[in-house]
Amino acid sequence: MNTGEGTIGPVEHPVPTDATIKALYGSALRCGFPECMQSLYRVSETGERILNSEVAHIHARREGGPRWNAAMSREENRGFGNLILLCKPHASEVDDTPQHFPAELLREWKRA
Ligand SMILES: [Zn+2]
Repeated sequence: MNTGEGTIGPVEHPVPTDATIKALYGSALRCGFPECMQSLYRVSETGERILNSEVAHIHARREGGPRWNAAMSREENRGFGNLILLCKPHASEVDDTPQHFPAELLREWKRA
């Protein structure tokens, strides 16, 4: 098994399972950013249901990414507790300017 230890190159954890993603979408209706009213899906002008959100990692999936936590196991990293649903603009914002969005803050949003 590849534990990420002793390998060459940055660690990259596996993506969350479908079951975890389903559980996330079953647990929320709106973006996790405080007071953001964006729904996780929207209806397009042509009547289709369009995904309006992303599964964001509290601690990045890739070594060196936003809020990377080297102590975290792969199962913790891809687990429900490390993931938060955000609308697409907010998903970009928390990863592009992670200095404003520490892990503890994101965990608080998730609890709210
Ligand atoms: Zn949002």
